[in-house]
Amino acid sequence: MIFDILTLFPEMFLSPLEESILGKACEEGLITVNLINIRDYAEGRHRVTDDYPYGGGKGMIMKPEPIIRGIKAIRSQHTETRVILMTPQGSPLRQEVAKRLAQLSRICLVCGRYEGVDERVRDFVHEEISIGDYVLTGGEVAALVVIDAIARLIPGVLGDKGSSEEDSFSQGLLEYPQYTRPREFEGRKVPEVLLSGDHQTIEQWRRREALRRTWERRPDLLAKTELSKEDQELFDELKGSSGTR
Ligand code: SAM
Repeated sequence: MIFDILTLFPEMFLSPLEESILGKACEEGLITVNLINIRDYAEGRHRVTDDYPYGGGKGMIMKPEPIIRGIKAIRSQHTETRVILMTPQGSPLRQEVAKRLAQLSRICLVCGRYEGVDERVRDFVHEEISIGDYVLTGGEVAALVVIDAIARLIPGVLGDKGSSEEDSFSQGLLEYPQYTRPREFEGRKVPEVLLSGDHQTIEQWRRREALRRTWERRPDLLAKTELSKEDQELFDELKGSSGTR
């Protein structure tokens, strides 16, 4: 997977892309992140990339020409590139969005700054993504979130360190509680079932706890999830009643 990042602050990406799993994925060529400075596409002696808003108001707006030139330069070389604008006004990033994007070969992420980008940039992108209902100072951190969420779904990136299949959201549920050593910490014990070695019982316990956790914390997710017959039985057991959901 190749990511082309259009940003005014390429250096913001360096450390997160050098460390840990993302660092290794870059090193092994499982992902490539090209950092492209929008300023390189600006014209004039001062290479200006922002300007005052028409109609007045506070703050600066990112000019359309440098961003659109950047997008066109990438697309002229790689027509398959999907161009995504990072914006709090975009569709929310969810696990299924990350899964869909992980199937692509090349993605260009456009990072806004200041009061955002000139509206006309929107005509040159395929989609707009928000990482949540809050406003960041710029699109760089949001783009890193997108890169991270996609990268860990690319085969080989997690290696034997883990699998994304049982993670929260991947099956419409939050993940079950996890424990590691020590067996007891300040009076808090690891549930006996996890020490039993009985894989089937452990599996069932995990499924029930995933259902419980989702029910308690994110009933909205549960309402959207198709439960298997076994899950429905576990869920009914949990609720202490039957059949009502
Ligand atoms: N005035 C804009 C608005 O109200 O929609 C917000 C601009 S924000 C201060 C600057 C840039 O940060 C945006 O252009 C976008 O690229 C990025 N950004 C901020 N919040 C974001 C979010 N929740 N998701 C994705 N990108 C975000």
